[in-house]
Amino acid sequence: MKSKHSLYAPKCNQCDSDLILVKESIEILPDFLTPITTTTYRCSDKSCQKSIDKKTSERIQLQLEQDTAKRDRIKKKTDYKKISLH
Ligand SMILES: [Zn+2]
Repeated sequence: MKSKHSLYAPKCNQCDSDLILVKESIEILPDFLTPITTTTYRCSDKSCQKSIDKKTSERIQLQLEQDTAKRDRIKKKTDYKKISLH
């Protein structure tokens, strides 16, 4: 019997090339009952991967900015509460 799973090759959603599995890590967090599997793929097309890397770093940068903004808002809110309670 052939296993369908072994034939499965993920495709890049940018250029439809095969993706190469770079890293697979399993993390078990105390708050979750099931372990979380994180898989990292790279596109087999070098120029495509380059643009993905660019997008990823942009996304991380944006996420960091959003996190900082969020923290600032929470901080401001807390400050405001302190003042209003006074
Ligand atoms: Zn690609």
